[in-house]
Amino acid sequence: MTNHEIKIAFDEYDAIEQLDNTDYKLCLEAAEALKNSHSPYSKFRVGAALRLQSGKIIYGSNQENVAYPSGLCAERVALFYWGANHPNDPVEAMAVTAQTDEFELTRPVTSCGSCLQVLAEVEKKQNKPIKIILYAQQGPVWVIQGIEKQLPFLFFEERLTT
Ligand SMILES: [Zn+2]
Repeated sequence: MTNHEIKIAFDEYDAIEQLDNTDYKLCLEAAEALKNSHSPYSKFRVGAALRLQSGKIIYGSNQENVAYPSGLCAERVALFYWGANHPNDPVEAMAVTAQTDEFELTRPVTSCGSCLQVLAEVEKKQNKPIKIILYAQQGPVWVIQGIEKQLPFLFFEERLTT
């Protein structure tokens, strides 16, 4: 038996004001994005903003449905919109934030496994890592470079063949 250990590294800031100006602005865009969240069931609003290489911003927010599996996370709403409309304009960074009236969010919300897998494919498609900025509006900011740090056992296309 061999035991393996994987460590991940990320940067933590106390507040979005400590980020550089472009990342700070992207965080504000993510907060704007969550205003269009459709989350009557979870009452948990999530906003995502993508900054493309051209400078264009793409917005996503969680869109729920009374038939629960039909809904989609903010990250994938934004990433699939990107794929459908701007696939040749690489994604440089994605900021994600969340809000709920039910309790105070004091830690960043991290993406679900399905969103991480979709992020992995976007990175592979554009052959460039994406800077991921997760922040709580009353808490710290986590900045992670590239998807492999968050999903070290991601599913690769190469695993579909022998
Ligand atoms: Zn998700």
